[in-house]
Amino acid sequence: MILQIKDIVDERLCYEKVRELRWSEGVKCPHCQSREYKRHGHHNTCEHRYRYQCKKCKKYFDDLTNTVFQGHHQELKVWIICLYLMSLNLSNAQIAKELGLTENDCHAMTSLLREGVYEKRPQEVLEGEVEFDELYLVAGHKGKPSAVKKKSVSQDDDV
Ligand SMILES: [Zn+2]
Repeated sequence: MILQIKDIVDERLCYEKVRELRWSEGVKCPHCQSREYKRHGHHNTCEHRYRYQCKKCKKYFDDLTNTVFQGHHQELKVWIICLYLMSLNLSNAQIAKELGLTENDCHAMTSLLREGVYEKRPQEVLEGEVEFDELYLVAGHKGKPSAVKKKSVSQDDDV
């Protein structure tokens, strides 16, 4: 039996964790920043992905709106596990193997994740990809997580 980590990770719990992190101060409309909202069922591809309607601007949004997880075919848990493996300083090749992804897919995911998880803006993603090679080299230095951390902190400062 070949066991993959994604087979034993619960998609529902991943959504709960994302909600806990993202809406830690309450649900906020990503369009107008209002905190007045009502629940509006769930996303049509996933019952764990809650939808909301803003009472102020009337627009709809969900748990993943304006995050890097939005608009990709991978399940949320694949992204979460990818983030976790990145935090262990695994290489793209190792992460790809653990998640059953091609190295190209994995490379695309880790580059996006290094940009940060929330409030994705297309222009910043483009700029970020230019920097990716440098980031990857830092992340590839095994046993030097502080170097990686330092780099990602300074990157956050730039945003
Ligand atoms: Zn709104």
